[in-house]
Amino acid sequence: MRPSVLDPLFASASALPGVGPKSARLYDRLLGRDDARALDLLFHLPYGLVDNRLSPSIRDAPIDSHVVIAGRVAEHRIPKRYSSAPLSVLIEDEAGDDVLLVFFRNNFDWVLRALPIGEIRWFSGDLKLWNGHRQIAHPRIIDQAALKQMREHDPVYGLTEGLHQRNVQKAVEAALARLPKLPEWIDPALMQREKWPSFAGALAFVHAPKATADLSPETVARKRLAYDELLSQQLALRLVRAKTRRLRGRPTEGDGRISGTIEQALPYSLTNAQRAALSDIRGDMASDRKMLRLLQGDVGSGKTIVALLAMASAVEAGRQAALMAPTEILARQHFERIAPLARAAGMRLGLLTGRDKAAERRASLEALAAGEMDIVVGTHALVQDSVAFRDLALAIVDEQHRFGVHQRLALGEKGEATDVLVMTATPIPRTLVLTYFGDMDVSNLTEKPAGRQRIDTRAVPLERIDDVIAGIERATREGARAYWVCPLVAENEELEVAAAQDRFEDLQKRFGARVGLVHGQMKGREKDAAMLAFQSGETQVLVATTVIEVGVDVPEATIIVIEHAERFGLAQLHQLRGRVGRGAQKSSCILLYKGPLGETAKARLSILRESDDGFRLAEEDLKLRGEGEILGTRQSGMPGFRLADLSAHAVLLKLAREDVDGILERDEALASERGQALRALLYLFERDEAVRLLRSG
Ligand code: ADP
Ligand code: MG
Repeated sequence: MRPSVLDPLFASASALPGVGPKSARLYDRLLGRDDARALDLLFHLPYGLVDNRLSPSIRDAPIDSHVVIAGRVAEHRIPKRYSSAPLSVLIEDEAGDDVLLVFFRNNFDWVLRALPIGEIRWFSGDLKLWNGHRQIAHPRIIDQAALKQMREHDPVYGLTEGLHQRNVQKAVEAALARLPKLPEWIDPALMQREKWPSFAGALAFVHAPKATADLSPETVARKRLAYDELLSQQLALRLVRAKTRRLRGRPTEGDGRISGTIEQALPYSLTNAQRAALSDIRGDMASDRKMLRLLQGDVGSGKTIVALLAMASAVEAGRQAALMAPTEILARQHFERIAPLARAAGMRLGLLTGRDKAAERRASLEALAAGEMDIVVGTHALVQDSVAFRDLALAIVDEQHRFGVHQRLALGEKGEATDVLVMTATPIPRTLVLTYFGDMDVSNLTEKPAGRQRIDTRAVPLERIDDVIAGIERATREGARAYWVCPLVAENEELEVAAAQDRFEDLQKRFGARVGLVHGQMKGREKDAAMLAFQSGETQVLVATTVIEVGVDVPEATIIVIEHAERFGLAQLHQLRGRVGRGAQKSSCILLYKGPLGETAKARLSILRESDDGFRLAEEDLKLRGEGEILGTRQSGMPGFRLADLSAHAVLLKLAREDVDGILERDEALASERGQALRALLYLFERDEAVRLLRSG
């Protein structure tokens, strides 16, 4: 149960003074949850501030900013009746400088009464220059009472329609006033070393910035809060991990009979990195603990064969294995590529996707349940309720960041103590692995198979598209095959498809029947047909939306054109580029961009030209974009951070990990006084799950 000391923070925001039932809905929208709580308001940090200090004179008040000035009311300029002109009031200070206050559609009587000629008044608002004259539209008139309440600075918050700064400021103030005194969960020595304030002190500071510098992620207050969030996250991950660690697995040990046959049939030998990864995986499978392992490899580093050999070990032990891919195309392709090898080595395998005919599907389900199918490859159709295994030993989830965490684990739940292997499409930056996969062991395929050639990568402005097309025409005459990737249209698949359709028709004029099209809105069978035609060489140019991004393998393709490359992220460009350079021939990647390029886009394209090391590109991408986008927070179902910003706080993440090591070493059950405080921290960041694990032991 949540400690009751936290109750005021978890109370609905609508219970705060000044937040009525109507505005409660606005706060829900602003804070992005169904029943926004006081805590959510406190975690809604300001992004700016306004200075409420009185400007020493009208002359000194900075133009184009929020100012507070004082002056004597010198003149009322009242518009004619029925005129739509505004009411203006001229204010003068002692130095003789003046400013015009302008009121449109106001209650003019009220204004005139509040500003009698000759009186001195205070005003605040945005000072502009209008026809060479200082002017403030709709200033706030500050009376004695308001003056007393005014703070020197006000924070500025992100808003949603219907809420004003004053509303949010007041609500936050009210939430701060109700902040209970909480036990300290951070080690006193660490607090002292880092000069961190208490949780309450940090919140009070961040909501009362006095200078722009106070808004920086580098302030001790923001660091402290970021640390709280990271610490809770790392602690929760470790508790979950400790729990999976305690879960007994079932030792699965193959005798090498099948995997040996497969290995011998390969036209190449495994890289050292592949061997090392396999030995990690087999070691985990053979142990009596459950495996939860992440296999990271760059595009083309050969993850598929590692997966197949691991599955073979499970089958040798008389058990089953499943491989889940994020798309239909990929599942099919995996199936087609591993089927010959698997069958030749005596394994029985099947394919299960959302597109199977009813009879096929029934047969597959029966075979799986009866143990007459050793390996199954499929899409998320694999995690449906109707799918049951006789004895699933190993669940492999490919290209993980397209799947939610939930789906990832769901496949593993299809068996008893099933070992889980997750494979990423491209490497993920180290800090993010620690953050989001801290509960997993990691194997990295850092080495690419021998003989891979560098892909010649060039950035070409869109104006030269005709040259590019002419180049492709020459190359295809000599038998080359090319991908043409159409621009990403943010959040709009329709537009994306339309763009691909246009480009397809355009290229058809040049290439006739030798150009094909594949996009996300085609029916499955049409997609297959388009891929197949390209694979067989019937079409030589394949226009595609980003559906080809992940994993598609046509070794004969040697050219890839990426249209509007400036709209893609680094990792995505690298992934797309990895569609070529898969065979022995020299390949090239043309990044067609529309100028002028912004700084980030420029950096991205130049890093890409320079490097083809996915591990390095991943780190650079993190620097350029921040964590949310890389993992595609939305699709991945991974929660982003609310207070921490990994591009600024990565060091704190490391610190938090070390901290957690120490904490769990001394007080595994979080029973000590600090342990209790840490439990409160877990609740604060909604890691209730982890606390529950503590209790169930
Ligand atoms: P990815 O890691 O991108 O999924 P794949 O598993 O699709 O990579 O492998 C890419 C290509 O490399 C495949 O055509 C595969 O047959 C080949 N391959 C895998 N391992 C090796 C190796 N050790 N030596 C040579 N080629 C390999
Ligand atoms: Mg792959």
